[in-house]
Amino acid sequence: MASSIVLFGPPGAGKGTQAGNIVRLTGKPQISTGDMLRAALAAGTALGLEAKGYMEAGQLVPDEVIIGLIEERLTEPDASDGVLFDGFPRTIAQAEALSEIADVSVVIAIEVPDSRIVERICGRYTCGNCSAVYHDSFNPTAVEGVCDNCGHTEMKRRADDNEETVLSRLSAYHTQTAPLASWYDERNLLVNINGDQDIDLVGGEIAAVIVFDL
Ligand code: ADP
Ligand code: ADP
Ligand code: ZN
Repeated sequence: MASSIVLFGPPGAGKGTQAGNIVRLTGKPQISTGDMLRAALAAGTALGLEAKGYMEAGQLVPDEVIIGLIEERLTEPDASDGVLFDGFPRTIAQAEALSEIADVSVVIAIEVPDSRIVERICGRYTCGNCSAVYHDSFNPTAVEGVCDNCGHTEMKRRADDNEETVLSRLSAYHTQTAPLASWYDERNLLVNINGDQDIDLVGGEIAAVIVFDL
């Protein structure tokens, strides 16, 4: 079974920001459960409707919904050489289910203190076309309102990127997701990266881990 990589960390840690580089380095496709849920919500599917209330409240969507989504996604041809999981797994139950269906070779945990998370999330915006991730202060587009990556001029902000919801998401992270770090550490798969430094420095440290893992 080809091996997969997990990007782990609190909301706003920089998982989406770093994912593009890892995709370029490894050729593995990015699977972001958050992006998949938002696409389902936008398309008005039954899955989207089921997930909506949880996402708006900053709570985790139930494990069986997420696991079903991942099982289906992993049957697609581009997943056969392993994938990059971004924002999954987020509970021990999800990690246990994943261990039955995929081989994880490394879990990259991007560590950022809680005190930084609200400012990161509340300043986040993304390109409406290519989903490149920006920040009002820490990583703005070179020309205001124009995507550096693709030139598109419509930027998006997420409805759940507000202070109140961020605090719920952070609390869900600490109670339900953070225990996974030691779960993966016990299996010798965890690598911690300091996410509280420049985006390029974080990227360099992650690249070193990935190249070692290839
Ligand atoms: P996640 O996918 O983990 O939720 P994102 O990659 O979307 O996180 O990053 C959250 C916000 O923080 C974005 O606005 C992004 O531009 C910004 N950001 C990401 N990494 C850094 C960093 N190392 N320093 C400062 N801001 C960052
Ligand atoms: P962030 O990393 O900024 O918190 P995501 O885009 O990964 O945001 O997730 C947005 C929301 O989607 C989460 O708050 C949660 O409601 C839901 N979600 C995403 N991935 C999962 C998952 N693996 N398990 C449960 N809920 C999830
Ligand atoms: Zn773009």
